Amino acid sequence: MGPEPSTPLMRQYNSIKQKFPNALLLFRLGDFYELFYEDAVVAARELQITLTSRNREKGVAIPMCGVPYHAVDNYIAKLIARGHRVAICDQMEDPKLAKKLVKREVTRVITPGTASDFNLLRSNENNYLAAVARCGELAGLAYVDISTGEFRATEAPPDEVEPIIEQIGAREVLSPSQLPLFGAIPEGSIATRRYLRTELDDWIFQFDYGRRTLSEHFQLHSLEGLGLADHPAAVAAAGAILHYLRDTQRAALQHLDRPVFFRQRDHMVLDAVTVRNLEMVEPLFGGPAESTLLHVLDHSTTAMGARLLRQRLLKPSIAPAEIEARLEAVEELKKETILRAELDRDLAKVLDIERLLARVTLGSATPRDLLALGTSLSRVPLLRAFVRRLHSPRLCDLHERLDELADVAGGILTTLADEPPLSLADGGVIRAGVDPALDELRDLRQNGRTYILQMEQRERARTGIQSLKVRFNQVFGYYIEISKPNLHLAPPDYERKQTLVNAERFTTPELKEYEHKVLEAEQRILEIERNLFEKLRQRVAAESQRIRSTAAAVAEIDVYLCLARLAAEHNYVRPVFHAGAEMQVISGRHPVIEQLGERERAERFIPNDLYLNDSTDLIGVITGPNMGGKSTYLRQVALISILAQMGSFVPALSARLPVLDRIFTRIGATDNLALGRSTFMVEMTETAQILNSATSASLIILDEIGRGTSTFDGLAIAWAVVEYIHQRLRAKTLFATHYHELTELADLLSGVKNLNVTVKEAGDQIIFLRKVEPGRADRSYGIEVARLAGLPLPIIERAHAVLERHEEREHSVSEELSPGAAHPTQISIFTPIDSLVVDQIRSLNLDELRPIEALTLLAELKKSVTSDQ
Ligand code: ADP
Ligand code: MG
Repeated sequence: MGPEPSTPLMRQYNSIKQKFPNALLLFRLGDFYELFYEDAVVAARELQITLTSRNREKGVAIPMCGVPYHAVDNYIAKLIARGHRVAICDQMEDPKLAKKLVKREVTRVITPGTASDFNLLRSNENNYLAAVARCGELAGLAYVDISTGEFRATEAPPDEVEPIIEQIGAREVLSPSQLPLFGAIPEGSIATRRYLRTELDDWIFQFDYGRRTLSEHFQLHSLEGLGLADHPAAVAAAGAILHYLRDTQRAALQHLDRPVFFRQRDHMVLDAVTVRNLEMVEPLFGGPAESTLLHVLDHSTTAMGARLLRQRLLKPSIAPAEIEARLEAVEELKKETILRAELDRDLAKVLDIERLLARVTLGSATPRDLLALGTSLSRVPLLRAFVRRLHSPRLCDLHERLDELADVAGGILTTLADEPPLSLADGGVIRAGVDPALDELRDLRQNGRTYILQMEQRERARTGIQSLKVRFNQVFGYYIEISKPNLHLAPPDYERKQTLVNAERFTTPELKEYEHKVLEAEQRILEIERNLFEKLRQRVAAESQRIRSTAAAVAEIDVYLCLARLAAEHNYVRPVFHAGAEMQVISGRHPVIEQLGERERAERFIPNDLYLNDSTDLIGVITGPNMGGKSTYLRQVALISILAQMGSFVPALSARLPVLDRIFTRIGATDNLALGRSTFMVEMTETAQILNSATSASLIILDEIGRGTSTFDGLAIAWAVVEYIHQRLRAKTLFATHYHELTELADLLSGVKNLNVTVKEAGDQIIFLRKVEPGRADRSYGIEVARLAGLPLPIIERAHAVLERHEEREHSVSEELSPGAAHPTQISIFTPIDSLVVDQIRSLNLDELRPIEALTLLAELKKSVTSDQ
């Protein structure tokens, strides 16, 4: 804000801006929304528009920029996408009628987490606003999607809060100004904060205040019913969200769900790193969008279905009964090919009921939004009739939950015109026959045309001017127009109104009176339409909860349909869950690569088997040449389990699976280094996280862990990690590695087995067979892979020679190894060159060694070690 301004307008601006210090204030001035001072500087930069300065207050120019009012939505969308808060200040009276300064008020505050306009949202993703609070030892976390009504709350130790926020992808997070909840993000971490943090006063996050706010809004006597009674931190967070929404939305918010308590461990936990590594919803390293699992899955028909599918993908179930109910529904729909097509056709006509409803209760719905809601709801009875023909328990249940809402749909369709305008102000929103007074006024307006024609005839006769016209325009209202040559014929009762080049415009007392009547009718029409629309809006808003549960049922049907189609088209099989620990997949495929392959490469996808259990086959160490298919195999195992637990069929001939509580996926640092954002430190931090939280019901996928450091360090760490998982965690694990030494673990630890991706040698070429088979890879084929990659032939030949020499020496050295050495296995994980040194030291007799000999020996040892590096 600038110095005390001298004009009333800038004083008005300042007094409004004062109330919204953290938002960019868009101030309506005529046909523009203007920004001033610092806001103008920020907006000009973000929107790439020209910064000007207009008023000079006491000699100081005020920075200013503006956007045309009719395009403001696009600019708001840009500012929101860039994480800004925006306050819209409108003119509250018609500037033409205002006597002095036009009254202005902030009518909307839009923030990234409270957006509800379609152009601010992604249709297939939720838009979450979260809040964190602290109560004693625990942190509370609540989140809401105001554009749908979903509202949830949980409690967790403080350091577990941020991962949840990241997992749900919140756009904005409310927190008390003094909360030490958020730690610093470790440098180089691939975790990024992608949300706007909004700090509010501490009292808003108090348990007592939250309890009162929630009970009052949802009209509850106690919070027992919500399952929140014993979770004060969750209550505090949920209360803060509600406070903020009431403050920013100024609407009744009837579409908000009561906050549901959940626990992070109620579903399969997939941390952000795993979600990213498995390319579940976003491609890694900015790859093509087609490379995500979501892309392969999401052929849902409605936006609601798309969002539910995404939610289920990121939170697979761990409840066997729930998983089976979903699979049963998919199985039935998979068989019903024709019914599936019929359902689909019907669903295609259902628009985003959830978000249309949210706009209705938030008061931002246009007449077309409301009509779209009505037409979408009118599809429900047909949908319901189709679903009635199905028998699986889940689909029968959904049939029950589909409320036909004939009253709501009927109310909308019989009240609104067939093609209402975008804005209420344009008139013509309400259908004829709804309101007698409205119809009468419209008649009057309609008859006006005849009246004007009659008047024109009459005046032509009276004046004798055949070209005389009675017309209307927006600026001057009704007028009589006479061309210049005929001016002398104008009667004395004509009052001059406007002069044109070739004509003169007049009015008469009769015409003035008529004009008044018509304008009044026009205003009355708009007023009646506005009232009827508002009544309709409230009637629909009052049925929010019924509409929401129907929308939820529609979304769920859509998800089963989508998964059934996927299963049918891509030959997926229903997974079988059992209470034991065995994971057995016959001819499993990678759901994404097999489809990419079909289209882009001639290469067919080669299916592979998997067998793991909690005793003899706990850990699989996978070796084989680069490009052999190790990473693909690892990921396909994880993806099959995720698909199965979200309730989908899986790409395999058969799958017998346990219910997993978590899946962890980590990729060694060098694989990520291309982006320059991952370091060995991050690799180790991520690995530590696994080792601290995996259980015997988890699946761990390690891909080249230990690569981010020197060979010896990396190998040693990899070795120790496998031992630790084997001894302590007992989690089923697949470990792909280029450390051949790790294959020795299979001889030492029962439950560790070797697998390798096979290749065929043809001359000095190799062919990747992509078959995963028991046993260790005999060689790493690095040179052959280098040849495939197109390294110049002389280099390939030279590399072969160097390798041969090295292998010869390795051989001779290992023969020298003393067979009676105390810890041969430990030694063998280091290279034989070092073993020789160790051996020499071991055979020394220190009692006989003179100092000078010791020094010489040391020099020799050092030389042998350095020269062989
Ligand atoms: P690695 O991790 O052993 O270096 P990748 O898993 O990255 O190998 O696979 C290398 C390439 O082989 C990838 O382009 C992948 O699409 C392809 N590929 C992997 N597994 C298969 C398979 N089973 N069938 C067909 N192509 C495969
Ligand atoms: Mg790999």
